[in-house]
Amino acid sequence: MSIDHEIRITAFNWLTEQVSIHGDVLSWNVLSQGFIFKDQRIPLVSPQGIFRPRLCRYPLTIRSAPDGPYDDKFSKGDVLLYRYRGDNYLHRDNIGLREAMKNSIPLIYLFGVVPGKYLATWPVFVVGDDLKNLTFTVTVDDAAIIKEDELVVKDSDEARRAYITSMVKIRLHQRSFREKVIHAYRTQCAFCRLKHPELLDAAHIIPDNEPQSRPTIDNGLSLCKLHHAAFDSLILGVRPDYIIEVRGDVLREHDGPMLQHGLKELHNKKIILPRKQESWPDRDFVNWRYQKFRDAV
Ligand SMILES: [Zn+2]
Repeated sequence: MSIDHEIRITAFNWLTEQVSIHGDVLSWNVLSQGFIFKDQRIPLVSPQGIFRPRLCRYPLTIRSAPDGPYDDKFSKGDVLLYRYRGDNYLHRDNIGLREAMKNSIPLIYLFGVVPGKYLATWPVFVVGDDLKNLTFTVTVDDAAIIKEDELVVKDSDEARRAYITSMVKIRLHQRSFREKVIHAYRTQCAFCRLKHPELLDAAHIIPDNEPQSRPTIDNGLSLCKLHHAAFDSLILGVRPDYIIEVRGDVLREHDGPMLQHGLKELHNKKIILPRKQESWPDRDFVNWRYQKFRDAV
């Protein structure tokens, strides 16, 4: 097995482990620390988007910035796009990706969702090179096809790749919504200020199964697990002036401290808002949801 392939396998295994610890959105810190391969530290990122570790023959990772100059993330159909580095198709990084394409080399795609946070997806394959638009076409495949002792992937199945790629796109939208909303609320629950990211969700104000729902910050609230569930089950409502109301039957109930502090004391409190007013919940969305809450009382 070549060193290049060995490093790739080590990187995939290391990522699997990191994702099980941190979830599939990884921080720049974790990625730049990287892993140890034969006593050498190998990071997964560099300041440039296309990264080839010194010991590798082909690039290992491609990375997109959340709102960078490149609109890498989406395209029509079942593929992802990745912009060339710069506009010179003969730049060595672009040549590197073209070589990876010719040899079916599995890579890692790191999608920027908010500054410093990336959704890691692998294995991805460069399958097209669009010189006119300075863009590579990329598809995602199942990690199970990567065999330790094979240098190249022979089992490429277009239908399977199209399906997995479309799943990744949905995941990317979901993670991007979650990270943006939680980031806007400075990693705290908008109702109770709890600041543990592992206990926070991005709740939709208009639920995402409604046709008018949007995956934007102004349709989101950063809520802890308890308050997310209470908001979704209409125990808690938010008025368009951002005041929380507790449903009447729950207010009249008497029970232990969780009911008292966790729910009843939120009544008539104002939610915590993002710093930027443009990120505040849209009042029409809040009102739409508040009417559902009123109907439930
Ligand atoms: Zn909370």
